[in-house]
Amino acid sequence: MTRRGRFAPSPTGQLHIGNAITALAAWLQMRQTGGAFVLRIEDIDKARSRDAYAEQLQDDLLWLGLDWDEGPRVGGPYAPYVQSLREPLYEEALEKLRQDGRLYPCYCSRSELASIGSAPHGLASEGAGYPGLCRRLSEEERLAKAAKKTPALRFIMPDHALPFEDAFAGPQPSDGDDRSDFVVKRADGMFSYQLAVTVDDAAMGITDVLRGVDLLDSTPRQLALYEALGLKPPAFAHVPLLVDQEGKRLSKRDRSITLAGLRSAGVEPEQLLGALAHQAGWIDRPERLTARELIPSFGPIRQAGEHLLLTEPLRRLIGAG
Ligand code: GLU
Repeated sequence: MTRRGRFAPSPTGQLHIGNAITALAAWLQMRQTGGAFVLRIEDIDKARSRDAYAEQLQDDLLWLGLDWDEGPRVGGPYAPYVQSLREPLYEEALEKLRQDGRLYPCYCSRSELASIGSAPHGLASEGAGYPGLCRRLSEEERLAKAAKKTPALRFIMPDHALPFEDAFAGPQPSDGDDRSDFVVKRADGMFSYQLAVTVDDAAMGITDVLRGVDLLDSTPRQLALYEALGLKPPAFAHVPLLVDQEGKRLSKRDRSITLAGLRSAGVEPEQLLGALAHQAGWIDRPERLTARELIPSFGPIRQAGEHLLLTEPLRRLIGAG
């Protein structure tokens, strides 16, 4: 079977060097294994997404030499590759979950939940996350709330752990943390990232999900959705987050770390690719290399925990140290 990987950015800002390592890793993984590389624009958050960012991120990827076999501009068998055009698929998945009794309406507002969380004798014993209030409503209570408010829809998490093996981060027991029921469709009609990403990865036949470690905690939720929808989950690999010498996450607002900023500062793609590959531990010396030249070097990202401390060549390139 041909492997299928993807890069799935949200067009809510410019790509930065952290996104670039993720995109590069996903592209190299497919180019090394002869798989297909898919680009999908995740713009379900319409208020924050911009077409101009979607266009720019494609220009940025091509500048780096990362081309895609399927996606915007090139099309493909699973088009459209833009989430805002795929809503009927998300609605279909919701319908199945609804019929299987895996959803319930939730009337809680953000502020109500926040006050429960901070109450001195609140629901701390029920763990972090949503305390399941609306799951326990009587029919009478539910009708009273329904008369006043449009609900969000929550998915009922299973009681069992959802362990998985992460190709970069190692075994994930996924038996603690946030196992609470989560929103799959907001009261304003917006589908959640968890639902859309699961439906799309499955519908597009994705076998390898490679993405930032900030989404590691989302994976058990997505595994629960794969299970509930009767879909086969992909393999997962999460790329550690780049941090500076003080252990701080690089700021998205810092223009020096966006691809567009580096490009306008005169940085060549081969310089950046060499520094990124060195940062990831794929090459020992930061040479100037094209994306194609890096294909044989790709492997797991060397890491200690969730963070990747910015190494000298990349730090020098972005002028941060
Ligand atoms: N759209 C998500 C983001 O840009 C990534 C989704 C994924 O790779 O699963 O953060």
